[in-house]
Amino acid sequence: MVAAGRIKDVLEDMGFLAMGRQGNWPIPPESSREYAAVNWSSAGMARTKNRGAEIPTSALEELEAFATSGHDDQLSEVLDIWAWYAPIHFFGDQWGIYIRQEALLILAGRIGGRLTKDKITDQSTAWDLLRSALYALYFHEAFHHYVESFAIRLELIENESRYEPYHNTVHRQSGGEGEPVEEALACAEMLRRERKESGLKTLSVDVRRATRQMLKEWIPSLPDGYRNGVDLVEETSFKAAQNRLSSQIQTARRDSTDKELRWRLIRRDMYRGMCDCRSHTYLVGTGSPSSVGGLCLPASGAKSSGSR
Ligand SMILES: [Zn+2]
Repeated sequence: MVAAGRIKDVLEDMGFLAMGRQGNWPIPPESSREYAAVNWSSAGMARTKNRGAEIPTSALEELEAFATSGHDDQLSEVLDIWAWYAPIHFFGDQWGIYIRQEALLILAGRIGGRLTKDKITDQSTAWDLLRSALYALYFHEAFHHYVESFAIRLELIENESRYEPYHNTVHRQSGGEGEPVEEALACAEMLRRERKESGLKTLSVDVRRATRQMLKEWIPSLPDGYRNGVDLVEETSFKAAQNRLSSQIQTARRDSTDKELRWRLIRRDMYRGMCDCRSHTYLVGTGSPSSVGGLCLPASGAKSSGSR
């Protein structure tokens, strides 16, 4: 892992930083009181083992309201609007994954609406729903960090700006079947990583099943690109799409005509996250009355990335 500050300095030197030119990207909260770093060791534990704070009644009520609303309309703004990745290129030291608590509660509630027997306002069930929703959003946003890591490696080797041009001419433009493919891949990760994540081993079988079911119904209802996520869950289709994305980033063109298969030799290494994005994952709105503070480190722990 490399400290993001060192990457920022090098990119700045090379002239590839695009601070302040982030367009319609959500801005990280101003005050550190508004957000807190996710406590992953707590998020990886079942309620019986976790002695953290109780989930407040107001949060349980919200969960129940979302679970019983019967439709998924509120879900449309969750991805990349209420939960988003702030790239190093655009935000420097403020980079990271930001997840609004509303996004967490809505997603957790919609998973809860698909449970067959458990009562969702039960503390241990509600806790499982919240952490399952947290991981799902994290998997999506973390993929955006792997994409930025890929672009940074290209920039260092080729000495050419890659991330910002790709963003402006490919990722941010609409249109085209299955595009932006980066979003389809990020959505596929929500289902793919759920199988392997050790922090989810302690999740109840029922919540796991309900989460998969929710994702498989929700993802196809999302905008272009995102909606193709379910089609890319299998390894072969995921890798083919990742090869396409790699060429898009290198050429800043959606339809590249180059030999995409070449990426298979280095794809795995190129997409490895360069920075520790788990310790830069923040819950936004942690000061609100329905705060699910049990998922967060104490306020002083936020941003203390040097402590590991
Ligand atoms: Zn996304």
